[in-house]
Amino acid sequence: MKLCMLGSGSDGNAILMQAGATRILIDAGFSTRVMSKRLASIGVDPRSIEAVIVTHEHVDHAKGAAAGAKKWGWQIYATEGTRGACVSLADADTRSIASSGTIKIGDLEVRTVPTSHDAEEPVAIVAMGKPTGVRAAIVYDLGVMTDTVTSAIEGVEMLILESNHDGEMLRNGPYPLMLQRRIAGREGHLSNRAAGIAAAHCAHRGLAHIVLAHLSETNNTPRVANDAMERALKRTCFRGRITLGAQNSPSQTMSATSARDFASSQLSLGL
Ligand SMILES: [Zn+2]
Ligand SMILES: [Zn+2]
Repeated sequence: MKLCMLGSGSDGNAILMQAGATRILIDAGFSTRVMSKRLASIGVDPRSIEAVIVTHEHVDHAKGAAAGAKKWGWQIYATEGTRGACVSLADADTRSIASSGTIKIGDLEVRTVPTSHDAEEPVAIVAMGKPTGVRAAIVYDLGVMTDTVTSAIEGVEMLILESNHDGEMLRNGPYPLMLQRRIAGREGHLSNRAAGIAAAHCAHRGLAHIVLAHLSETNNTPRVANDAMERALKRTCFRGRITLGAQNSPSQTMSATSARDFASSQLSLGL
């Protein structure tokens, strides 16, 4: 299982996921011009991507999905709510997914989990790659970690997690009170602190990567988000890497082995 975050933030989100011979995107919140540029920079032909799953209708997640599908033959997947609320998907050939269900796309088994966000029917994604069984979770654009999301991400080897804002920076920042409340509310965006609690809960020896996503450019900084996450993970058994998702450039391509392989490699090393 391989992951590359092509970009993340309020100006656009897209994540490339690969298992075996299957490549899919989770969200395509950039124009096709930006998408093709970023994919080219990591050596990926957009026509080699089978599908795009749109997590919700907000433009920073859905912007390039229909245009990319038309241009490069992607199959679009979205919940009925997302499909209905997304103008650009109105005329696109979109396959419906349940907000709580599992679909198979080639070598990937993709589970959808409902999230608490101010969208029609938003979802988080937990995908498992064949044949390794490695699992990756994508959890962003949510105001709170519900029990459903928390239990769905237990044991994953890769975790892309929203770390949107620092509570104090949001309160003391330039946003009007209404907007501050929306962001910090139950259907808003996850704070650094909430992300830290979620990651610490999910930490295990096989968790290879935590990627901090959807950082606010006004109410957060990469340093503040990273420090908060390091603090939260300090007393856990997490030994993986923390990566900061950037708005304007792709991350490195990340990969992980399955928890079972990890455990046996530890045994064979006598650890
Ligand atoms: Zn968003
Ligand atoms: Zn959103």
